[in-house]
Amino acid sequence: MENYHCCNIIEDNEDTDLNTLKLKFNIKDETILKIMEAIGIKYIFANTISSDIYNKSDYNELIDDNIICRIYNKNTNNIEDVIHELVEQDKAFNIVNLGELIDIYIKWCQLLPNIKPYYAIKCNPNITMLKLLALLGSNFDCASKNELNLILNITNDPSRIIFANPCKLPSHIQYAESNTIKLMTFDSIEELNKIKLYHPNAELILRIAVNDSKSVCQFSKKFGCPLKEIHNLLDISKKLKLNIVGFSFHVGSNCLLPEIYYEAIQDCKRAVDIAKEYEIDVSIIDIGGGFSNVIFEEITKEINKGINDFFSNTNIKFIAEPGRLFSENTYTTVLNIINKKITDTQIIYYVNDGVYGSFNCLFFDHTKIKIKTLNKSENSPIFTSTIYGPTCDSVDMIIENVELPELNVGDYIYVENMGSYTTAAASTFNGMDPPVNKYIHF
Ligand code: PLP
Repeated sequence: MENYHCCNIIEDNEDTDLNTLKLKFNIKDETILKIMEAIGIKYIFANTISSDIYNKSDYNELIDDNIICRIYNKNTNNIEDVIHELVEQDKAFNIVNLGELIDIYIKWCQLLPNIKPYYAIKCNPNITMLKLLALLGSNFDCASKNELNLILNITNDPSRIIFANPCKLPSHIQYAESNTIKLMTFDSIEELNKIKLYHPNAELILRIAVNDSKSVCQFSKKFGCPLKEIHNLLDISKKLKLNIVGFSFHVGSNCLLPEIYYEAIQDCKRAVDIAKEYEIDVSIIDIGGGFSNVIFEEITKEINKGINDFFSNTNIKFIAEPGRLFSENTYTTVLNIINKKITDTQIIYYVNDGVYGSFNCLFFDHTKIKIKTLNKSENSPIFTSTIYGPTCDSVDMIIENVELPELNVGDYIYVENMGSYTTAAASTFNGMDPPVNKYIHF
């Protein structure tokens, strides 16, 4: 792994020396502990922290200063033990497992060692996670002025950003120009005209449309230039004296078929051949996002095969824009049952977060969730159940006609893998707070 920054870890407790932590909690790389310290995360044994810290109502402010991260050992604890320790009355919360984020980043470096990730921050702009990724060596994909600003504040390095929105607001292009953020995507003549006007020295990546039919969220209807239009766009960019440096694609978010990446890399080969006709020297290919955790390893095989088959004798640099892959498995959302009704046909529950909060992913990301219950024996009788969120809107329903053991007001349920496209788009409709974050290393 590259780009580790080291600093001294503060040992404020005799238990928290590095060796004890490493042995007891199975943390193999002490650099990770140093990284955590560098971004203001204080590692604490699960059983040494005062629960008062977690129960503070101003928990969010605490996060910005010094995050308390409890360390758990997978051999002796499970996620339900963690939930039991962290619950607080009727507040919805996310358990954010920073260990998971580190593990997936390391996995990326192992399976795609020559492809630099630019984490797509739209997916989950959690500041702590962004800081951690920055220290691990990730770069960033931003889509707007605010996202650019967020990453500049963290990295202070415009070269670690790709402005990967092919349809940018003019003022956002100006912001990129004034902050020397050069790398950006486009897919249309009008975008080229805007870039010529506001950022003529930008380094441009032409996003091509690829087969997105095997992805849960499809983008090619809205973005990407068809192969047959590449000639025209390159011709115009030449006439405008703009600097084309490469091509990008996005197979659609949550891609379910690994071979699609191979085909898309083949499309890039065709695009690079067209660029040669215009004496454009392509130096970057950006393979976008879409990586599903479930089939990540199979996807990496197709990507490596594609690069080997089509680009083995080139100096072209490959980059990518993973979003959900990095963040999805880091969050477990814990909900409290705040009300209940028993009807002739089923039990209806009301919980403290819903579709106007984290569960907007049911609409926008087509997520299929699995509700898990705490403390219910396998032999508990099962009832058909529907779960609503806390707002006054009936569309605020998390799941319908699901089979669950009977729950009571005050009980907790939880949903795993809630780290992508959840809190990023959550609102405070009806004055309901989205879940707070509680950090662990597990
Ligand atoms: N890059 C761009 C331009 C995107 O629009 C997105 C998602 O919308 C991503 C990357 C991240 O995609 P994913 O979360 O599927 O990896």
